[in-house]
Amino acid sequence: MTFALAGPTLHPDGTIADATIVVEAGTIAEVTPGRDRRAAFVATGIIAPGFIDMQVNGAYGFDFTTDGRTVADVAARLPETGVTAFVPTVITSPWETYAGRLREIREGRQAAAGAEVLGVHLEGPYLSPRRPGAHNPAHLRPIDVAEIVRWADPSLVRIVTLAPELPAALDAIRALAAQGILVSAGHSEASFAQALSGFAAGIGWGTHLYNTMTALGHREPGLAGALLTSSVPCGLIADGVHCHPAMVRLAYRAKGGEGLTLVTDAVAAMGMPAGRYILGGRGVIVDAATSRLADGRLAGSTLTMDQAVRNIIEFTGCSLAQALMLASTTPARVLGLACKGRIAAGCDADLVVLDDALRVAQTWVGGKLVFEEAE
Ligand code: ZN
Repeated sequence: MTFALAGPTLHPDGTIADATIVVEAGTIAEVTPGRDRRAAFVATGIIAPGFIDMQVNGAYGFDFTTDGRTVADVAARLPETGVTAFVPTVITSPWETYAGRLREIREGRQAAAGAEVLGVHLEGPYLSPRRPGAHNPAHLRPIDVAEIVRWADPSLVRIVTLAPELPAALDAIRALAAQGILVSAGHSEASFAQALSGFAAGIGWGTHLYNTMTALGHREPGLAGALLTSSVPCGLIADGVHCHPAMVRLAYRAKGGEGLTLVTDAVAAMGMPAGRYILGGRGVIVDAATSRLADGRLAGSTLTMDQAVRNIIEFTGCSLAQALMLASTTPARVLGLACKGRIAAGCDADLVVLDDALRVAQTWVGGKLVFEEAE
């Protein structure tokens, strides 16, 4: 089936201009300047590449670390937030549960309709016992390279977050990167020098900049300082709670549009009323703005990607085009997805149409309309 969408469009060069996007068999066949009045869909706000969330623990009452099959339930609803592809994240779990959880996610991915399940982000269990965040420290493990290579199946595992200062971490980073897995530094007490050694070994991303890493210090900049001053991109939770808006501004100034990916780090409570939920086997208490363990520590977020886009503009003053690219083009590039994150001929027809208030009006995945805001 061939059809066209027309309206103000974010182009890969970062400009926003009227265009007509011709979609054929799920792929963008052609992008022509101007609005073709014969287009089946005419947008008044903006047409952007679909959002790609590299860190989602769950949403809408579902927790991937509890039941991997629920990636299908969440995939069905994430298009409400403009997300067209995501990397479901499993946090540190009892070792014996991983095989089953990965099997469930593989099943869920096959069953999923809506947003595309890009594989798994394994956040842990090779994290610093001093920076567990909301992960259960009892389930952390020392690194065993042979074990990791057997465990992290690259046909399913897309991202592994580990602490680069742990013994044997550099060998693990090299082994995982050689399999095509994106290795991310996070939940770490790495010094600046240790972080740079990890980057040299093949770390390709940083997990939620500032959170669960040593605070940025002027004498010991730590992992945060290494991420801010290197070319290694990193994720950022722009909810205004996980880091102060001024620190978001600092990150944007240091990293620019190419170096930051907006992530939600959403938990089961995202899209749900305030209350009590489960994250990785532990109870979390959710209010209007935060998700916390009983002791008050932050435990993921209830942020949505469309809200993150609106927030980053408010916090940094960046352009709309830049904000949209932080949610689409940059994560696609970091994940090595050549056919996503750009509105160009040959790319997947994964699109989000935002209204003038930057609310999600329509979401398209592979040329299929998977969400439309009720009039
Ligand atoms: Zn985390």
